[in-house]
Amino acid sequence: MNATQLAEIRGRLLEERERIITEWKNHGGDGGPTGDWDLRDPEERAVQITSDTVERQIAEDDLNLLRKVDLALRRLAENTYESCERCGATIPMERLMAKPSASLCLACQEAKDAAPD
Ligand SMILES: [Zn+2]
Repeated sequence: MNATQLAEIRGRLLEERERIITEWKNHGGDGGPTGDWDLRDPEERAVQITSDTVERQIAEDDLNLLRKVDLALRRLAENTYESCERCGATIPMERLMAKPSASLCLACQEAKDAAPD
């Protein structure tokens, strides 16, 4: 993938990020993301979901998507974007163009879908 293509992917990821944040806020997200996502306690959030409203569930879905986008942006910055997170194989450009937040090659994605960890 060349620099132009990487720049295009990055632009699309940033747009996607904006869209998710807007949607998340519309669905009762708690004031929008600030700082480092890793500081949030996923266990605590999971408990909230089971006891809270459908609105919250939507917000959580947005949050998961946002994490994927953020991960992709980080992988871009670290030059590991085109490597599969699981097996290290090069993810085909067509796949990344179709799904910029993908972090697994097709084989690993299929394996993960078949047996989620
Ligand atoms: Zn793989």
